[in-house]
Amino acid sequence: MSRTYLAGIAAALLAAAIPFSASAQAPATPPTAAPARPAIQTTKVEGTEGVYIFRNVGHQAIFIVTKDGVIATDPIAYGRPTGGQDYVNEIRKVTDKPIKYLIYSHHHYDHIAGGKAFKDAGARIIAHKRVKERLAPLGDPNTPLPDESFDGKKVIRLGGTTLELLFLGANHSDSNIVMRLPKEKIVFVVDTIPVGQVPGRGMIDFYPQEAEAFIKKVIALDWDRLIPGHPGPGDRLGTRKDAQDQLQLLQDASAEMKVLGQAGKCWDVGEKEFTLQKYASWPGYQAGLPFVARRYCGLWGRGT
Ligand SMILES: [Zn+2]
Repeated sequence: MSRTYLAGIAAALLAAAIPFSASAQAPATPPTAAPARPAIQTTKVEGTEGVYIFRNVGHQAIFIVTKDGVIATDPIAYGRPTGGQDYVNEIRKVTDKPIKYLIYSHHHYDHIAGGKAFKDAGARIIAHKRVKERLAPLGDPNTPLPDESFDGKKVIRLGGTTLELLFLGANHSDSNIVMRLPKEKIVFVVDTIPVGQVPGRGMIDFYPQEAEAFIKKVIALDWDRLIPGHPGPGDRLGTRKDAQDQLQLLQDASAEMKVLGQAGKCWDVGEKEFTLQKYASWPGYQAGLPFVARRYCGLWGRGT
């Protein structure tokens, strides 16, 4: 190859690069836009001694700092190779106490992939018994299996903090638990009770009838604030009314699809005619509607 030829290639590459460098120099957002939200954020829950919310883009988890160590939950690192370590690093900005536990909310990877960083830090992984049953055959390299399983109820006491792990029946999956901090009157409920949002993509193994019973049980527990597994509108925490509203949404979805399903319209026609119109202004409506329709068509059109 001649020098001239190589120089020609270099010139062509340079020319091709110009649009990219020009766009790289342009402001990322118009001057009037709000500042970009950081991908990772740790926030102390107001009025608590050591309860924190760790958010990574659209997922969030809680960790509790006590005088004897840290209880962490859900690594939320699916598709984020450094996500588990990023989370541990965030904890390390708050405390150098040992991370004693990592609790899985349920077996879906988008919430629990990335636990290796916690195991390396010495944490013991605890989950409902079905998490291990579900995950063991799949052998996902990014998701360490629980070290300890439970059914019903398990209470963790560490450094003056009590955390209850409660299995109240199948709901968003057959392994979702409720984590309750009795002193702080906080519950951490992942995916089953989205705050002010239409549920959707995660309804792959949702249990429609059991979920209604589950939400009623959650409402009956003693708590003031609900922390969801995905940030609510404006990052607000959930209330008892949000749980009641979500129950109502599921009941409305079920009632609407019951008519279609029992008229023999599931799948295609029923799913097209299903509108859940009352919730059209809720965040997540457009994206979630087909998934809600499919799940309830399954219930009323197939009996499952
Ligand atoms: Zn899920």
